Amino acid sequence: MFEEEIIQTAAGSATLKRSNRRTLAISVLPNGDIELVAPMGADVEVVVEKVAKRAGWIAKQRRTFREMNAARPPLRYVTGATHLYLGRQYRLKVAVEETRGVAMRGGYLCVRVSEAVDDEVKAALEGWFRQRAGEQFAGRLQAWVEWCRNRRLPVPKLRLRRMAKRWGSAQTDGTIALNPELIHAPSACIDYVITHEICHLKHPDHGPKFRALLQQLCPDWQRLKERLERVEM
Ligand SMILES: [Zn+2]
Repeated sequence: MFEEEIIQTAAGSATLKRSNRRTLAISVLPNGDIELVAPMGADVEVVVEKVAKRAGWIAKQRRTFREMNAARPPLRYVTGATHLYLGRQYRLKVAVEETRGVAMRGGYLCVRVSEAVDDEVKAALEGWFRQRAGEQFAGRLQAWVEWCRNRRLPVPKLRLRRMAKRWGSAQTDGTIALNPELIHAPSACIDYVITHEICHLKHPDHGPKFRALLQQLCPDWQRLKERLERVEM
């Protein structure tokens, strides 16, 4: 919603966003990037000063994320490897056949590929996940159509969009963009992201009115947000 800028701080470069909040929010993202959300009129110098005071905490957060990333094995694309679908672990069964495809059978994701190499299996699996994402998200968004109509809000329309640091976004015309990676998360978390974006159709920022509406529609949102942050995609 608001312009972003990159600023230099004692802890390295950081993305600075503005909102109508009253205090500065500092976040360290899992990749180590720093994201700042400052009040509209806050001086960049003051922001930089505050970040410097939190340099110790930022370093600690980065260390924690580094350790978590090191402990997480990379996704594998062979029989027996596990992948998450709607928050549940499934094992792969890779079979070499003429046609490429994926089917879910008895807790297994059965992948057919013409050649059992990582790239082939990965492509088949990613295509399948993207398809499931389209179906799942569209169905869940459909549940909001009536709600939006009754409030004279634009009817929500789904767009799948890969975003590096976000799960979703909402536009005033009702377009709700959702990150297809969400398909790996539990369905309650997907519903939280959708509810969050639906609230934006009424309130574009994260102000008190937005928070009150989100709280009303999804009382458990804080727990779901935290759970989503822990999902290993
Ligand atoms: Zn938001």
